[in-house]
Amino acid sequence: MPPRAVRIVCTIGPASRDPESLAALIGAGMDVARINFAHGTPDQHRETVARIRAAAAAADRPVSILQDLAGPKVRLGQLDGERVRLVADQQVTLDCGVAKARGDELPVPDAWFAGEVQPGGPILIGDGAVELEVLDVDEARVHCRVVVGGEISSGKGINAPGGLSERPLLDEKDRADIALGVELGVDLVGVSYVRSADDLHLVRGILRDEHQCATPLVAKIETELALQNLDTVLASCEAVMIARGDLSLEIPYERVPVAQKRIVAAAVRAGRPVITATQMLQSMVSAPRPTRAEITDVANAVLDGTDAVMLSDETAVGIDPVRACQAMSKIVVATLEAYPDFPETSVDGVDEPLRELAFFARAAVRIADDLAVSAILTWSRGGLAARLISRQRPTVPIIAPTRTEQGARRLGLSYGVHALPCPEGHLDRKRLEQALGSVLDDEASILMVGHLTGEARRIPWMALTRAVDNEDWGRDPREGRLGGLPVSRVQE
Ligand code: PGA
Ligand code: MN
Repeated sequence: MPPRAVRIVCTIGPASRDPESLAALIGAGMDVARINFAHGTPDQHRETVARIRAAAAAADRPVSILQDLAGPKVRLGQLDGERVRLVADQQVTLDCGVAKARGDELPVPDAWFAGEVQPGGPILIGDGAVELEVLDVDEARVHCRVVVGGEISSGKGINAPGGLSERPLLDEKDRADIALGVELGVDLVGVSYVRSADDLHLVRGILRDEHQCATPLVAKIETELALQNLDTVLASCEAVMIARGDLSLEIPYERVPVAQKRIVAAAVRAGRPVITATQMLQSMVSAPRPTRAEITDVANAVLDGTDAVMLSDETAVGIDPVRACQAMSKIVVATLEAYPDFPETSVDGVDEPLRELAFFARAAVRIADDLAVSAILTWSRGGLAARLISRQRPTVPIIAPTRTEQGARRLGLSYGVHALPCPEGHLDRKRLEQALGSVLDDEASILMVGHLTGEARRIPWMALTRAVDNEDWGRDPREGRLGGLPVSRVQE
């Protein structure tokens, strides 16, 4: 079986954090394990990470770990009693800056929440199960009328579409979680409720200044402001997630499908891997088969050109996480088989210093098609060339040998990229064939693409080799040999 180009992200939770389930999920095709830091204790996260690493090592697969920071999602505080029933037209007051209910008022621990809402604006509680309308705001108290009634309970999420500007991105717990993520060596950090590039600079600055760490950031697009600032957000992160759960509460839900297509297109153009997330196979939380609409949703995300698709509750708390992952994989594979071609991505807008390499990447993908090569092979450190080639959505696999395990795991989200850790700087034919899922005959061709780092600039290059020419494609060219080119002086 050829490798699957669209990557699968599985959220790990109570239903899947035991070693057997993790091994089975990797077997079913999980490329990235997401840990949601809105739940769980530090010790649980330590254990989960250790188990994922052990399962990945046993399977000899570079499974990436995505640490998803909780971020400033507003939640109800502690209510009086198990549940509270709100009925339409009833008046209720949100008591902000208060953790535990005082009388009939609904507690909201975050004091700044009152500053984010305005009379006439909607407030949604519990994934939109209950809808309120703000009547007026009296300092930290928000008086509302119930528009759509229902039951609420402690800790339910609250969304106030259109607000968000007052909210600090990170609290003390998020900062402690960032430190824990560094300790655990997570491969990607998901930043929730991003509004602008500044939010990403903040997290990047903390990682760099307090932890001397450059973990790639995944910007979660789930606010109106992030959509407005999409281009600068994309320029400031390494990848994005279309976080459709909160996005469909923060903007009118009928706009989400078009926003999804717009985000995918912009991310591909910017060369940032994009994850399409939330409720993709939601019914499989409790059922063995997905609904027709869900199957179609996954297929459409693939056709949009997404790099990765994500499972949330399906694998975190569902009845059969492995079955959900298998279902996801089957839908992705069937769709890619039927519609393998994506349009070429324009190189317009790619600025120096990446422009030349972007042209090489585009040419490489054309040549790979024209000559029906077996693979595009790019020796990788930071993964730059691999991502530029991925952006052109080749029909053949991109094999990316990396010098470190971490380098391989950081490529876990990119369309079509199959990273292989090769610490010795050497990839042998058997391993390549394993990755490709087929045996190569000697005449099979492999297109090598990459860049060497010269004194003043990156030097792009490309070479067509045959499977039999193991000396050429099998070695990291930066180690001193590339078809006779004098590359030994080049260092990165
Ligand atoms: P969450 O993000 O699951 O962390 O809320 C995803 C989403 O909002 O869709
Ligand atoms: Mn969210």
